[in-house]
Amino acid sequence: MSQLRWQIADLPNPQLRIIDQAQHRVGAGRYQGLEFLEVEAKRIVNTLKQPGGLRFSHTINVYRGCSRACTYCFARPTHEYLGLGLGTDFETKIVVKVNAVDVVRAETAPHRWGGQLIAMGTNTDPYQAAEGRYRLTRGVIEVLGQRANPFSILTKSPLVLRDVDVLTAAAARTQVRVDFSVGTLDEAVWRETEPGTTHPRKRIEAVARLNRAGIRSGVLIGPILPGMSDSPRQIGAVVAAAVEAGAVSVGCVLLHLKPGLRRHFLDWIDRHHPELTERYGEWYGTRSYAPTAEQRRLSALVRRLTHAAGGDVSVRPRRRPPATRTPPSPRQLTLGE
Ligand code: SF4
Repeated sequence: MSQLRWQIADLPNPQLRIIDQAQHRVGAGRYQGLEFLEVEAKRIVNTLKQPGGLRFSHTINVYRGCSRACTYCFARPTHEYLGLGLGTDFETKIVVKVNAVDVVRAETAPHRWGGQLIAMGTNTDPYQAAEGRYRLTRGVIEVLGQRANPFSILTKSPLVLRDVDVLTAAAARTQVRVDFSVGTLDEAVWRETEPGTTHPRKRIEAVARLNRAGIRSGVLIGPILPGMSDSPRQIGAVVAAAVEAGAVSVGCVLLHLKPGLRRHFLDWIDRHHPELTERYGEWYGTRSYAPTAEQRRLSALVRRLTHAAGGDVSVRPRRRPPATRTPPSPRQLTLGE
C-alpha cells in the first residue's frame, strides 16, 4: 500500500505516533460505530517500486482501514503498522488524510509532476463509507480532472455514482477508468465475506450506468475464493452480468494470502468452513498464492465464458501485486478492493 509520510515522520516510531496525534471523531448517524482518525499527510501520491506489468506506477489512497469489512481484505495487516488490530480495528477505526486534496494539488503541479496515470483503490476502497462524509476522493478527482491527469478507480461501492459529474468532466479531458470488484453474485457468499459492502448486483448496475455516462467501466472478478466462489456456475453468473452491463473489460484474481493476513483468514475458514480447512492449508499454509495451474485455469474459464456470453471485451488476469517504496506491503490489487 502507499506508505504514509506524515508530518510527524521524523518522530520516533512515527507510524505508532500517528494515532496519538490524530484528531479522533466518533461517527454518528449513518457512521455509527465508526471512529475517524483525522491526520495530515505529508505526501499522498505513492510511487510503486516494482510496478511489474501493471498499467500504473503511482497510486493514491486517502483512507486507511475500511468499513466494508471484507474477511479476505489484504489491506488488514497495514493497520498493525499503526498499532491497531487487523480485525475490528481495521473495520471501525478509519484513518482519514484530511488534507489529501490540497497535497495532491501541490504534488501534481505541472512543474513537479509528469502527468503519469494514477490508480485509486489499490489499497482500501476510495468510496468506502467515510467518503460520504469527507468527500476526499471527489476532491482528488476534481484536481486530477483539472490537470487532465489520467486516473483509474477500483471500488466496490456505487457511491461513485454520486461523482458522475466530476468524472464526466475529467473524462472529457483525460483517460478515466472506474472498475468494480465483484467477486461473486452468490448471495450467501457475499453476505458471509463482504458484510459491509453494497449488494454486488448494485455494483453491476453501476457499471452499466457509468458506461452509459461515457465513463469506461469494467469488472474485476475477485478475489475468487477457492471452494466458495470458484465454480463455473458462480463465475459464469458474474461474467454474464458484466457483459450485459457493457463492461469494457472482465478480469479475475484468485485469492492470495500474504503472511500478515494468512493466519487471520485461515482462522476464519476454520471457524466458518471447516470442510475447507485442509484445502486452504495445503494451498496457503506456507505460500501466499494458490497453485499457478489453478490461477491459469480460472483465467481461461473467465476468458471462455466471456466470449461465450458475447462479450466484446478484453479479459485480463490480474498480475501479482507490486512492491511499494516502503515496508513490504500486504497489498493485493483489487480492490478496494
Ligand atoms: S477488500 Fe476493498 S472494500 Fe473490502 S474491506 Fe478491503 S478495501 Fe474495503
